[in-house]
Amino acid sequence: MTQHTQSPPRYPQRFDLTGLSAVVTGGASGIGFESVRALAQCGARPILLDRDAAALELAVAALRDEQIEAAAHEVDVTDPAAVQHVAQAVIAAEGAVDVLVNSAGIARLNRVLETPDEEWRQVMDINVNGTFWVSRAFGRHMVERRSGSIVNLGSMSGLVVNRPQAAASYMTSKGAVHMLTKALATEWAKDNVRVNALAPGYIGTEMTLAMRARPELFDVWMDMTPMGRCGEPAEIASAVVFLASPASSYMTGSIVSIDGGYTSW
Ligand code: NAD
Repeated sequence: MTQHTQSPPRYPQRFDLTGLSAVVTGGASGIGFESVRALAQCGARPILLDRDAAALELAVAALRDEQIEAAAHEVDVTDPAAVQHVAQAVIAAEGAVDVLVNSAGIARLNRVLETPDEEWRQVMDINVNGTFWVSRAFGRHMVERRSGSIVNLGSMSGLVVNRPQAAASYMTSKGAVHMLTKALATEWAKDNVRVNALAPGYIGTEMTLAMRARPELFDVWMDMTPMGRCGEPAEIASAVVFLASPASSYMTGSIVSIDGGYTSW
């Protein structure tokens, strides 16, 4: 039934983040940095978390050139005590945190039989444990306030096995991020805290830079991507804004593919 209410929704307002504060891990580079820019342009106050102090400094300066004032904290997401400490400091300074984007992550390519113990542990520690520590630290605050939106960076690599490169650690970690997203979403749904994940295909960032320079990888990737190109960070950041904003208010536990059609074939 079509609803003709007296005051119809104002759709631009549903994408408006004015007055909200948004924490972005991995905010110094790639998808995280672009998400900071997008969230700030839509009105949010951005707070960047990253383990790379020099990159954080450059990011804050670049944002300032665009009239975006951002706070930044150096933190390694694999350290739960440090994450807890930073979360308390950010919440105290901001008064409230409304949005969390978990973008910190790494990828390592190796066949299983050649994967060093330390590499497996590191990929799991950053991509899975880090997402858990940060979500728990800020999620506790969001649950108490009964308000918040968390956006995790999953991957098409958590949905399908990639080729031709072998990367069991990365694919397993992103599958775990997707399931963590659903677990958090269902635990916190009644607390008005939404948790969703994006599953990007190949995106033009630092993470894929060396891989894109290898034709034996890149040509297969493009052949397997119906749109025949890599995505831009802005094409992911736009969806971050959507999932962070009231425009997606009935979405939680969703894994949203943005992959140029990669997972359609
Ligand atoms: P990127 O390398 O450009 O940025 C990652 C950022 O995370 C860096 O600033 C890095 O310093 C930070 N980081 C890494 N480990 C950290 C730690 N332990 N603590 C704090 N910060 C840490 O990568 P990107 O391409 O922007 O990737 C962002 C996210 O998107 C990752 O989770 C990645 O797995 C996911 N993703 C990327 C692609 C892609 O093709 N680029 C595709 C799908 C998913």
